[in-house]
Amino acid sequence: MVTTTAGVMEQRVEGFPRHLLKDPSLLKTENFVGGEFVSGDSGSFAVFNPATNEEIARVSSFGKEETRKAIEAASLSFMSWKKSTPSNRSDVLRKWYEAINENAEDLSAIMTLEQGKPLAEALGEVRYGASYVDWFSGEAVRSSGGYMDLDNRRAMLIRQPVGVCAAITPWNFPVAMITRKAAAAIAAGCTFVVKPAEATPLTALALAELARRAGIPAGVFNVICGSNPKEIGLELSTNPSVKKITFTGSTNVGKILLEQSASTVKRACMELGGLAPLIVLEDADLKKAAVQTVANKTRNGGQTCISANRIFVHKSVADSFVSELEEIMKPMKVGNGVDSGVVVGPLINAAAVEKVKSHVDDAVSKGAEVVLGGKHLTELGENFYAPTILKNVSMDSLFCCEETFGPVLAVIPFENEDEIIERANDTDFGLASYVFTESLSKAMRIGEALESGMVGINSTALSDARAPFGGIKQSGMGTEGGPTGIHEYQNLKYVCFAADS
Ligand code: NAP
Repeated sequence: MVTTTAGVMEQRVEGFPRHLLKDPSLLKTENFVGGEFVSGDSGSFAVFNPATNEEIARVSSFGKEETRKAIEAASLSFMSWKKSTPSNRSDVLRKWYEAINENAEDLSAIMTLEQGKPLAEALGEVRYGASYVDWFSGEAVRSSGGYMDLDNRRAMLIRQPVGVCAAITPWNFPVAMITRKAAAAIAAGCTFVVKPAEATPLTALALAELARRAGIPAGVFNVICGSNPKEIGLELSTNPSVKKITFTGSTNVGKILLEQSASTVKRACMELGGLAPLIVLEDADLKKAAVQTVANKTRNGGQTCISANRIFVHKSVADSFVSELEEIMKPMKVGNGVDSGVVVGPLINAAAVEKVKSHVDDAVSKGAEVVLGGKHLTELGENFYAPTILKNVSMDSLFCCEETFGPVLAVIPFENEDEIIERANDTDFGLASYVFTESLSKAMRIGEALESGMVGINSTALSDARAPFGGIKQSGMGTEGGPTGIHEYQNLKYVCFAADS
C-alpha cells in the first residue's frame, strides 16, 4: 500500500536545525511517487549528520511492493510523456533548473547536514547539479535523428525514449548524481524512478519537491527511499516494465545490478568506482600540479570517484612536489561543514574512517613516510580524518589496488618514464587519469595511452555538464552529460522507405 501522509513531516525532522532553511517546506520525509509525497508499509529509517552523528530525520522506507507501485506510476505517465513535444520537455526542465537555483542555499544546507561536505562546496554541487538540468533542457530540443540515401531506399533514423528508467545513486554527490541521469531521461521523453543512497535521502526529496513545483508532470520523476537496497534494487533491475537501469556507485553493486538486469535485457549505464593515477613528470609546473592535486583530493573529503588514488611523481621532483603539497594542505581547516572557514568536512561514517586508516597504516607498514596528518581527528568527532600526505608509498600498498575515499595523498616515486604508463594502467579500473607535464608531445602520448574514460592534462577539473563523463574497464559503461548523454535514454530506430516503387 502507498498512502499519502501529509503532516507526518513535522514529527520526523525534529533533530534537523530548520532555522538554517529559508523554506523548511523543502524538508520531506515521505517518498515521491506519482506526483505525491507518500509513505509505504515498510517503516522508516534514520538519517544522521556525519559531523555530529546525531539523528536529523526519519524517512519513510520502501520495500518491494512500494517499489513496484512506483514503477507502475512511472509506466502510466510514460504513456503521455513519450508523446510530449521536445519544447514542452525543455520548458519543464528549464523551470526545474530555475527552481533548483532559486533554492540553492536551502538545498546546500540540507546536503551539508546529511552528507557532511562544507556549505560552500555543497552550494558548488547544487550549481553543478543544476547545470545538467540546464544542459538537458537544451538537449531536449537539439536532439535529432538522421537521414540516409540507400540507393533505391531511403533511411530515416529516429530517436525514441527507451521507457521507464530506474536509477540508483550514491551519497557522495546527492544532487548531481541524480540530475545528470534524471534530466537526460526526462529530456528524452522517459519517465524516471530513482533510489538515492540511504545516507542522503533528504536532498533527493527536496529535488522532488522542486520538480513538483516546476510542473514536471506526475509520475515522470519519482524518488523512492529505503533501508533495504537489495530488495529495492532487485525489483528495479528485474521488473519487466523498467527498460533501463542506470547506476552510480561501487563496482561490486554495479556487477550485481548488471547480472540481475540481464534477465530482462535492460539497457544499462554503469558509473562505477575508480583508482585514478595522477602522473607528475619531471618537467611539470609543480606549483600548478600541486594546487590541482590537493583540490582533487580534498573535494568532498576525497570521497569522489575521480579522486587520484595513486600519485606517481618523478623521483627527481618528488621532494619539491611534496613540499608544494604540504604548503597548500597544511592550513586547510577541518570541521563541521556548517562552520565558517571549514574546507574539509567529516567522512560519511565510521566505516569510511576505518577504511582510510587501514590504507594509511598499510602503507606505513610497507615503508611510507607520513609528511602531514595521518590521524583520526577524534577531538572533532567520530568521522573526521586529517588531510594527509604520505611519501615513498610502495606499489604493493592498498592505495594501488582499492579506492581509498579519503583526504589522503599517496605519493609514489618513479624513475623510468617509459614504465609509468604500464604502472598507471595496471588496474581493473579505468575512470579518470591525470598527467602533469609542460611537454605537448608527452601529454599527447601518455594521454592517449592511459586506459581510462577521462584524462586530465594539467587539470583535475574534469566534471562539466557539457562533457561526457564515464569510465571504461570495471569503472563502468556508458557516459553521462555531454553531447551523447541524451542518447543513453533513447532507442535509435531505422525506418526504411522504398523509393522506386
Ligand atoms: P554503493 O555501496 O555501491 O552504493 C550506491 C547505491 O547503491 C546506494 O544507493 C546503495 O544503497 C545502493 N546499493 C547498495 N547495495 C545494493 C544492492 N545490493 N542492490 C542495489 N542497490 C544497492 O556505493 P557508495 O559507497 O554509496 O558510493 C561510492 C562508490 O560510488 C565509489 O565506488 C565511487 O567511486 C562510486 N562513484 C562513481 C561515480 C562515477 O560516476 N563513476 C560517481 C560517484 C561515485 P544504500 O545507500 O542504502 O546502501
